[in-house]
Amino acid sequence: MAAPLAAQAGKLLRDLALRPRLLAPRSQALQLTPRRWLNLQEYQSKKLMSDNGVKVQRFFVVDSANEALEAAKRLNAKEIVLKAQILAGGRGKGVFSSGLKGGVHLTKDPKVVEQLAKQMIGYNLATKQTPKEGVKVKKVMVAEALDISRETYLAILMDRSCNGPVMVGSPQGGVDIEEVAASNPELIFKEQIDIIEGIKDSQAQRMAENLGFLGPLKNQAADQIKKLYNLFLKVDATQVEVNPFGETPEGQVVCFDAKINFDDNAEFRQKDIFAMDDKSETEPIENEADKYDLKYIGLDGNIACFVNGAGLAMATCDIIFLNGGKPANFLDLGGGVKESQVYQAFKLLTADPKVEAILVNIFGGIVNCAIIANGITKACRELELKVPLVVRLEGTNVHEAKNILKCSGLPITSAVDLEDAAKKAVASVAKK
Ligand code: GDP
Ligand code: MN
Repeated sequence: MAAPLAAQAGKLLRDLALRPRLLAPRSQALQLTPRRWLNLQEYQSKKLMSDNGVKVQRFFVVDSANEALEAAKRLNAKEIVLKAQILAGGRGKGVFSSGLKGGVHLTKDPKVVEQLAKQMIGYNLATKQTPKEGVKVKKVMVAEALDISRETYLAILMDRSCNGPVMVGSPQGGVDIEEVAASNPELIFKEQIDIIEGIKDSQAQRMAENLGFLGPLKNQAADQIKKLYNLFLKVDATQVEVNPFGETPEGQVVCFDAKINFDDNAEFRQKDIFAMDDKSETEPIENEADKYDLKYIGLDGNIACFVNGAGLAMATCDIIFLNGGKPANFLDLGGGVKESQVYQAFKLLTADPKVEAILVNIFGGIVNCAIIANGITKACRELELKVPLVVRLEGTNVHEAKNILKCSGLPITSAVDLEDAAKKAVASVAKK
């Protein structure tokens, strides 16, 4: 009875390994994507902003060059800015597969708007934040361009270390904020906000001043900052980032760009916002795994398996079946492992909501078990693992590895061999 089952599981896995796409049909694969916080397109975020009194440029969203021309005419502006709508940042410096350079373009001529849109829509835009091949552009924002006299940076985010919202700003905006933080940390300003009391006038004023808004602009900027904070709370955002938060020569404070992330746990009360989610840009989990040189295969059960090598993957699958359990997925680490890969692996494995336990089964040949153990403890802490974790390590440097796990103080169940590991993993799921 047992043997055919094991053989069946092995065959299943082999078939599935050969046809990973069939294994995880598109809808399922998307569900497994390690999506943490809903991300909306710029035009969607800007609509929310303008509905809540935040100053953005007038705009239309189009999906053809012809519509772009119409939109440009209707805007009837001195100058037009075209912006490719993808979920990644750094569009300004991006490159299209059509050869066009720059995902953000300014022009005064509606005819040029049409030509530019032609080279944007339907082509991939690659930026620093996208995969190498870029992301297909389906929509373009056609907006009234405004002159910018100064670009600053403003973000509001939920910060774990502060147990609440924090406002981060810099007078040096429009550029990569990480670079500013590295080269000029004194130009980064923070304001911790008490979530009960809300943002104080003095805080908004101080931030406006730190961002370098002077005279009447200071009050205007402070007012925009308060409105952005209120929006942040209202929509259950985890982050609102405006870069550039700019100033025009005419004395207007304007949000030129917008990136809002939303707390997935708030979906039940933010139905309208979550209905805007365009999942087509979210990558299937296999692609994500691929980025880190990991092989991912999704299955139907509830035990996530973290292994190295296809043979061990199949054996693990068989032995879980034999003990009455079902694997939820597999992540094959391969050889030559780095600690950061282990962390990524855990992130991917636990992105599947079906996962109720994790079984690590690593045989250290080339792989050093201590690296795995360090990766595991780091992942456990940083991802705040909520499911039981059973670990079976064997091979190179295993004594040190076991010691690392033992001394970590983390609730990790050690197993002596594969059989023991499978039994413990199945039992931990059955208990629930
Ligand atoms: P990102 O590159 O994806 O962050 O896209 P942004 O929306 O931030 O645009 C990139 C850059 O284009 C900004 O930093 C501005 O310098 C410039 N830009 C965007 N909109 C306008 C505009 O209306 N007028 C002017 N003059 N520049 C703009
Ligand atoms: Mn930007």
